[in-house]
Amino acid sequence: MTTIYAVPANGHTFDLYLYDFAPELQRVALDLFELLAGVVPAWCRAIHCHFGDSEGADATCQADYDYRNATIVIGAKFFRHDEADRVETLLHELLHVQCAPMADTARDAIKSLLAGQPEGAGAAIRATITGAAEQTVCDLTAALLPTYTEPAR
Ligand SMILES: [Zn+2]
Repeated sequence: MTTIYAVPANGHTFDLYLYDFAPELQRVALDLFELLAGVVPAWCRAIHCHFGDSEGADATCQADYDYRNATIVIGAKFFRHDEADRVETLLHELLHVQCAPMADTARDAIKSLLAGQPEGAGAAIRATITGAAEQTVCDLTAALLPTYTEPAR
């Protein structure tokens, strides 16, 4: 079953598609997306969020800047964590959406620069870019998490 919500977010709205969530988990997911809506970049017009196989992680994310959407898969173990951990996980995934155009552009530039060259060097550089993007997302998550989990001072 799919449910679609229009979620307001800092001057724009994105469509949130929730797929295959049990009703009580769907409510939890919607509340989290509403809490973190301001993190969703304006270019992202839709988030397709599936309940399902998240490859052993609490959640996975794939942003598609060209088509202005992102896909997030939330696994069952996500819901076994407490509220603060769920906020941290979804914040992390949404920050991947924020950083995706930068990392994708860097990977594409390397691919163009190394066209016709042996694959090894390009793969190593793309892996470095992926690692740097992950580090950036982790640092941004740590910086922003208190905004969503600690009471206002
Ligand atoms: Zn990550």
